[in-house]
Amino acid sequence: MQYNEELLNKIHFIMERIVVFDGINEVLEHIVKNAVSLTRAEAGTLRIFDIETGKIVIKASFGLSKGFLSQAPLKIGEGIVGRVVKDGEPFISPNIHDVKHCVHKELARKEGINSILSMPLKTSHKTIGCITVYRKTKDRFTDAEFLLLNIFATQSTEAIEKLRLLEDLKRQASFDSLLNIYNRNFLLTRLEEELMRASRHELVFCAIFLDIDDFKMFNDAHGHLLGDKLLVDLTKIIKRKLRKNDIIGRYGGEELIIIAPETDKKGGKALVEKILKLVTNHKFASSYGNIKGISFSAGISSFPEDGKTSKELIEKADKAMYKAKKEGKNKVRIYGWTKEA
Ligand code: GH3
Ligand code: MG
Ligand code: MG
Repeated sequence: MQYNEELLNKIHFIMERIVVFDGINEVLEHIVKNAVSLTRAEAGTLRIFDIETGKIVIKASFGLSKGFLSQAPLKIGEGIVGRVVKDGEPFISPNIHDVKHCVHKELARKEGINSILSMPLKTSHKTIGCITVYRKTKDRFTDAEFLLLNIFATQSTEAIEKLRLLEDLKRQASFDSLLNIYNRNFLLTRLEEELMRASRHELVFCAIFLDIDDFKMFNDAHGHLLGDKLLVDLTKIIKRKLRKNDIIGRYGGEELIIIAPETDKKGGKALVEKILKLVTNHKFASSYGNIKGISFSAGISSFPEDGKTSKELIEKADKAMYKAKKEGKNKVRIYGWTKEA
């Protein structure tokens, strides 16, 4: 079969441009838009199989109404796209309404969709989703269009897999795998960013240094695995109390740092006290069953009054935390405050 060299060049050009996008969602939008234009279709979707939920989810679309897009995600093997993803085989029909196993006929009718071509997104060993293009007419997609979408889908799969890998690597490089919060390196990067933002806009923020009390004893009594679980549960409790813009990271073993933007010392203290209350009342898993009374000590420093570098701010928050330890643990101390307000 002969296919158009010009179109193949176009595919090449589209794929080359993909590297200039930064987020995976942008790339998916770009892919679906071009799939529609390459096949002279009117609308299209890009669906990805989500391993965790076992559902095939629309991740990007073109030319479709909100109503159509709000359809419940299909399971593997269900409906047209469910089969395409399950079998890794393309599907083509000039009239979706004649297809027995189509489960979204009513939505397709409302949308005015008739002709359909669905192409699996296949790697060498699995199908990760599919690109589907639609026409309002009953014009069957031609062999040339089928072939073009086939080639385009292969290239797109490669691009998507590369991007996913990149995002995974980025995540691994910046997150702590146990606690699912920033690691020390990335926390420091975020702190530097906050320092710059706060000085540019003359804003305050506070740095909260947090260290679990007698954690060694807990590990000795209940084992390292339960110690790990305690750290995970504690982090979850803390995260529930943070605002969207707050930053949290693991500074060391059982030491966490919270950066609370646009928050003064008083605000920081109130936040820590709220968290401390929740933590001390929480029943953590232990080798004797659930136990209460786990606590931490915290220290707070603030920008700009305690320093203008990340090193100074962390050192001072750490000093204040140490003071809390010396004064009996299970409390928060603020750098520079002699009397507790
Ligand atoms: P303090 O109240 O003075 O902080 O006493 P502490 O026992 O917590 O002392 P310290 O902070 O010096 O010791 C930290 C302990 O935390 C030592 C180590 O066994 C434990 N730890 C650090 N990281 C981890 C971790 O990832 N998992 C577990 N299970 N334990 C950890
Ligand atoms: Mg410690
Ligand atoms: Mg400790």
